[in-house]
Amino acid sequence: MSLWGARPRRLTDRSTSTEISEVFSSLQGEGPYLGVKQIFVRHGRCNMHCGYCDELEKMREERFDIVTLEELCSRIDALEMERGPHHSVSLTGGEPLAYAPFLRNLLPRLKEKGYRTYLETNGTLPRELESVLRWCDIIAMDLKPPTSTGDRAFWQEHRAFLKTGLARELFVKVVVTPETGVEEIARCVDLVADVNPHVPFILQPLTAAGSGPDKAAMALIESELFDIAKSRLSDVRAIAQMHKIWGVR
Ligand code: SF4
Repeated sequence: MSLWGARPRRLTDRSTSTEISEVFSSLQGEGPYLGVKQIFVRHGRCNMHCGYCDELEKMREERFDIVTLEELCSRIDALEMERGPHHSVSLTGGEPLAYAPFLRNLLPRLKEKGYRTYLETNGTLPRELESVLRWCDIIAMDLKPPTSTGDRAFWQEHRAFLKTGLARELFVKVVVTPETGVEEIARCVDLVADVNPHVPFILQPLTAAGSGPDKAAMALIESELFDIAKSRLSDVRAIAQMHKIWGVR
């Protein structure tokens, strides 16, 4: 049974309703804000199809609800009352920027209520980012090398996104799998260094629930990728997807 009760099946007004798969309180499991407590708002769909994605099955089966702006704000406020205080509200997915018309209404409401906003994004929709940028406090931007994702390359989109996003606090994450090409990580590093070499750059070994970081991916980071990144960037870190190790959402 859905948390939201009986729902319409189709999204008719994309500015005042959205597709939500989950809203919950938990600990941030990735990147430099590792371990802070957040309210996670997980949007349904994504514009990409990464081979390692945990959410693809939900997307395929359309396991999400149509939720109005008022319903979502009430749910966020209730979680803040019950489980707070939280560090921030994380807009995640799927791809939250695939719902930019809705975010243009949600984000100012969250700011008015005093929440800090944290956008977790695949970094491929620069125009959509521009339209919501003023209400984003922290941007967690993924870079998506095609050898890691199995999807097409998004180099131009990533460059434009990074240039736009740097008006706010931003860091970059790259998921490393055993298939990740060294030359593609070098391309990610060059892309970031050419825009701003001080952007925090996180190498994130593919991590499976229960079994921890992929050993081959971690060895690749330790033996080559970290040094390649450090040769051009000032703030490089390797951080696994810790929520999968902790066993939390
Ligand atoms: S960008 Fe994120 S949500 Fe979208 S398919 Fe890739 S891993 Fe899944």
